This record gives sequence, structure tokens and C-alpha cells, in this order.
Amino acid sequence: MAKLKEACGVVGTILGSECEKAEEAAYLSYLALNALQHRGQESAGIIAFDKLNNASLIRDMGLVSQIFTEDGLSLLEGHLSLGHARYSTTGRSEICNAQPITINSKNFKTIALAHNGNLINAQSLRQDLINKNKTIVSNSDSELLVHILKDQLEEINIDNQNEILQTLKSALDLAKGAFSLTIALGGDYLIGVRDRHGIRPLVLGKLLDGKGYILASETCALDIVGAEFVREISEGEIILIDQKLQIRSIFLDQIEPKFCLFELIYFARPDSIIKNIEINAYREELGKQLALTKPVPANADIVIGVPDSGTPAAIGFAQAAGLSFANGLIKNRYIGRTFIQPTQAIRQLGIKLKLNPLPSVIKNKIVIVIDDSIVRGNTPNKLVKLLKEAGAKEVHLRISSPPILWGCFYGIAMKDHELIARRLNGQIELIKNEIGADSLAYLDLETVLKVTGQNIQNFCTACFDGHYPAGVSDEEKVLAL
Ligand code: SF4
Repeated sequence: MAKLKEACGVVGTILGSECEKAEEAAYLSYLALNALQHRGQESAGIIAFDKLNNASLIRDMGLVSQIFTEDGLSLLEGHLSLGHARYSTTGRSEICNAQPITINSKNFKTIALAHNGNLINAQSLRQDLINKNKTIVSNSDSELLVHILKDQLEEINIDNQNEILQTLKSALDLAKGAFSLTIALGGDYLIGVRDRHGIRPLVLGKLLDGKGYILASETCALDIVGAEFVREISEGEIILIDQKLQIRSIFLDQIEPKFCLFELIYFARPDSIIKNIEINAYREELGKQLALTKPVPANADIVIGVPDSGTPAAIGFAQAAGLSFANGLIKNRYIGRTFIQPTQAIRQLGIKLKLNPLPSVIKNKIVIVIDDSIVRGNTPNKLVKLLKEAGAKEVHLRISSPPILWGCFYGIAMKDHELIARRLNGQIELIKNEIGADSLAYLDLETVLKVTGQNIQNFCTACFDGHYPAGVSDEEKVLAL
């Protein structure tokens, strides 16, 4: 179900000196951003740099395909570019918060940055910068990072790459929380960074004829530009790529891997591979485990998934339960998450605008509906009603992850007070009653972690168990006083 504001998507592309097409870096970032559109649909931007460090930038509200035209892209000349697709977590959904963020620099003319994640010490960083008389123009936490970087990079020798890496490390050691970054130091260097927990993803790809490198949030963005997967940027790693395509890295202090488990369950695109895990296969296996470990309703006729994110788990569930999988819900793919619902009458149509049941599949059937998660609970409630109106005899809801009991401070917009499972103290019977399903079951956290096949200590599970690996935000601490 479409219910969460997702993390942002970031890209960085650098082409070597033999590349003749000046605009190609921006084109590649554009294609990669299209593949990452699921991570952010509020605003997008691409900046390009030429060898003289001249920058050209297009940033606007809307989808990648709405913002960039052929003519626009042809203006983004240069061998190095950054791209960003945004969903707001800190900072409102406004043009002033669109990224990449830029700042003038004595050494590089312009420093640009694209951020996926959320800083938990944004308030104190902001106050420190204000105390130093810095002018902060946006209300996003990402702008704070460019001020901190600029401050520390102004005094260095820009040809000394070790000094640059050391300086980036000392600047970024100040930031706490989740940050996967792509940074351009003018047209000189492309930088990729993951926070010390590696909460959000970031991968490195090599363009096929060896003409350059691309950094992107997910491997699906490498596929679209024909880049070969090289590796994931490690937790706490700062990687620097120069114009000769040489790569160096350095690491932040206090590394403790804690990748966001929810990326695997819901956020990442099913055709991406993260931590060697094929996302689509992982979700199918969650569905199988759901059928094997939780009661399967007696006499069920069909299994349907909530498209698109619930579909792989529904296929796995149906296989393991020996039931038929059916396409019972059709998704309207052309309604964005920022869809304007101008009148009350149209608002009341609610979920029907996005999902429409197929009565011929559902009528007089006992239906098992599989979804990946329940956040606020309003969508499954409407969905159950919709399926019953379409003639379902019974609707049994199965969820391929545990109840979400805690908000996220690391780049996903879900807050404690919005969560149905938290409001109802995690009592499944109460949640079931409020949603109106005939039965409800969730997959256990233990199983969701086990299916990764990896060290279970290496994941953030805070929204399920309240253990926040990077701490909680300044703002939350203030509210708790
Ligand atoms: S709290 Fe949940 S959504 Fe947020 S980073 Fe951790 S696992 Fe991901």
C-alpha cells in the first residue's frame, strides 16, 4: 500500500577525460534518477560541472520526467554531475529545500551535495552555524552539511587528496544519524559517503566502456545506464573519485553497521540487490515464511497482493500455502503521491483512485490479502471495505513484517503518534477490529531478519523494537523534556 514517504534517491556521475560528449554526465544522472523515482517524488534536481568548475543546475518541484526536458538537459554541460529525487523528512516540501544543494567555495567555485537520510543532531548543528553567523536559507538538515563542508574545505590544498579526505572525515564526523551523500567539489572530485551505520544504501558502478563511474542509491539505477556493479560503499566510508578516475577512501570513526531493514521489506525497488540480497526474492521468501509460520485461513480461495510492494510476498505466500495467486487489485500507476484531491466528494473516493478491485476475481471468495506493512491503518481499513463491497465473502489480512511500533528518525517519514500498532499497544486483535478484517497476522521480526541470511546485528530494526542505533533526534529529546 502506498503509505510511507520514502527516503530520497541520490546519484553522482563522473566521466574520464576521454569522454567527448559534454552533456553525457547529466544524461546519465537523469536516467539513473528516473530509476530512483520511487525514493522521492516531491522535487528533483541535477547539477553538472565542467572542467573549469563552472556549474549548471536545474531543480524544481515534481517528477524527474516532468522537470527535465531534452533542451534543459542539453544545458547541463560537464563531465561530473549530481542528481537528487526528494521526499521531505526534515524540511518542508518546497523549492528552497530541493536538492542538490549548492554553496559558493573559494577553492572549488561551487560545492554541491545530495543527501538521502536524516540527521538527528540537526538542531545543534544549526545552532552552531548560526553562532558562527552563517546564513541558512532552507529548513532542511542537508544544507547544514554543505556549510560544515565548505568551512573546513576552504583552507586546504585542493591537489592533496589525502588532505581532502581527512578534512571530509573531520567535517562529517560531526554529523549524527543517517546520511548517504553524493558530493561534487566543483568538477574536480566526486565524493560518495555513507554514515557510520550505513543506514541508507549507496552503490558504486563502473560505466561499461570504462569511461567513468556512477554512485547511486540502488543497483536498479546502475542497470538503467548499463553500468557494472562494483561494490557497495561501506558503512562509514568516504570515497573520492578524481578526474583520472582514481579512487581513494577513508572511514569515519565508530563504525557499527545497521542497515535499514525496511529498505528490504518495502522501500527499495524489487529489482535492486542490496547486501547481496535480491529484493524481489527476499520479499517472496517473507511471504512463504508468513504462510509457514502463521495460521492460513481455512477454506481460503485465493491470495492477492496489494500492488506493487505486496505482490512478491503474495506470490511466495500462495506457493507455500498451495493456494492460487490472483490479480485481484489493479493499481492506477498514474496517480502520484502528491495527487491533488480538490473536493470532499473526490476525497471520499479515497483509495479507489489508486486501487480498484476486480469483482470477477473476488466475488463470493474467501480472500487472503498480503501486504508488506501497516503504518497508519487507514489504507487497509478502506481496502477491506472495498474488497467486501466487491463481493469478497471474507478478507484475511497477512503482513510480511512485524507491527510498526516506533517512528523513524533516519529518513522515513513515520512518527510515533501516526502508528496504528502503537496506538493500540501492539494488540493484533484490536488492530484487526479497527481495520475490519476477518483475521490478521504479522510475520515475526526474528523471521524477517533470519531470511536476510546475514548477521542480524547488522540491521536497524528500531521501528519494530525501539532500539535506535544512531540515537534519537534533538527535536525528539526536546519534546521529551
Ligand atoms: S527505524 Fe525502521 S525505517 Fe527507520 S531506519 Fe530503522 S528500520 Fe529503517
